[in-house]
Amino acid sequence: MPDVIKILSTDLASKIAAGEVVQRPASAVKELIENSIDAGAQHITVVIKEAGKSLIQVIDDGMGMSPSDARLAFERHATSKIATYDDLENIRTLGFRGEALASIAAVALVELKTRLSEREIGTVVRIEGGKGREDGKIGMEPGTSISVKNLFHNIPARKHFLKSNATEFKHIYESVQRAALSHPEIGIHFLSGEETILNLHPSSLGERLIDLFGEKQIKSLLPLDEEGELFRATGYLGKPEFARKVPAEQFLFLNRRFIVNRNLNHAVYSGYEHLIEKGSYPFVLLFLETDPRSVDVNVHPTKLEVKFEDERSAYRFVMMAVRQTLEKNNLIPTVTIEEGKDEGTVSKLRF
Ligand code: ADP
Ligand code: MG
Repeated sequence: MPDVIKILSTDLASKIAAGEVVQRPASAVKELIENSIDAGAQHITVVIKEAGKSLIQVIDDGMGMSPSDARLAFERHATSKIATYDDLENIRTLGFRGEALASIAAVALVELKTRLSEREIGTVVRIEGGKGREDGKIGMEPGTSISVKNLFHNIPARKHFLKSNATEFKHIYESVQRAALSHPEIGIHFLSGEETILNLHPSSLGERLIDLFGEKQIKSLLPLDEEGELFRATGYLGKPEFARKVPAEQFLFLNRRFIVNRNLNHAVYSGYEHLIEKGSYPFVLLFLETDPRSVDVNVHPTKLEVKFEDERSAYRFVMMAVRQTLEKNNLIPTVTIEEGKDEGTVSKLRF
């Protein structure tokens, strides 16, 4: 396989929503896992120490990098995922800015080990002052391992503002959990020090849900699968009677990317209508699929926010998908009235 990473042109780079990519250990974990997923990994191991403050290591069995790509990967705007403006409009990968590794390397001590499967030997790169330096060759399995040590060691103020290990751990756990939900076909082993936090085997979404939330939780869910002109939605909805008083788990994914979108959250609640009291929250796991050209994922540095070309139809679709799922499960009562036997028209009335 040839070298694949290129530096984006200044023009294209200037169109990229730049900003703080690495705000806390969980942001680094998220970016590294996304890279492993984009590299086609089937198994990903995540190791953290002290809630990621002293070590974050992500190991995958993905496609790996050539020796020169391994060095280039740490340059700003170095990416193998887009090359033209048209690619930026049509993103199918989780990454596309070529900024994460550069940003991480600027604030931590980073070591990359990587091997293409068709090569006998891997490459080790250690980063000094943000620049990748090939340090040599290493015997290893195909794939990539990146270790990030002493995050923010050179920015004391930032380090100072990190929260307690318990809080930072919670954020990391959420990052791993989101990747685990959107990619159940990938095995994920998550360790904190010596302790295994999650050991998830490649599986179906249903099995992954049981692994993450337990057998009991799955019994409180209704499967959702709805298709419209612009969107398709799959996933699970919590039965209304299991709604909780605390903002419970609400997972929204767009083209397998975890997103935060208040508009769509509102659409979900509208779909539940009066079945849920104000201040109660149902479990929601929604995977939206749409043409990548109709959404802009390049609006925020962390890629958590996206902009729909047609925000209103996204809203309507999600609301209807929720409503129809509840109706199919007889949770929203429907009556059908025959309006004139001759035509046989049937109209649905909701009450
Ligand atoms: P982006 O993901 O936006 O392209 P990154 O800075 O995260 O930018 O990574 C830069 C490049 O390094 C990627 O485009 C990819 O070619 C390569 N890379 C990073 N991580 C991995 C990995 N785990 N396996 C293979 N290649 C990787
Ligand atoms: Mg990336």
